[in-house]
Amino acid sequence: MSTTLRKGSTCPTCNKATLVPIVYGLPTGDTVQEAELGMISIGGCVVRGNDPELECLGCNEKFMRNGEWVLTYER
Ligand SMILES: [Zn+2]
Repeated sequence: MSTTLRKGSTCPTCNKATLVPIVYGLPTGDTVQEAELGMISIGGCVVRGNDPELECLGCNEKFMRNGEWVLTYER
């Protein structure tokens, strides 16, 4: 099953929170502030080339792009 998701979509796992983009790389002051405001999620500095792009702030489910947005299971 795949679901088309984008930034701001309601999380299909918990149906409560919205999805925010995961920002990779060394966090700057602005990045940290946006994360504290719940606008983005900090993904860390290590980019593996096939990383999730959206994260739910409610249940921390991560979503990866694979043609369309699909669920990934990292737990
Ligand atoms: Zn969720």
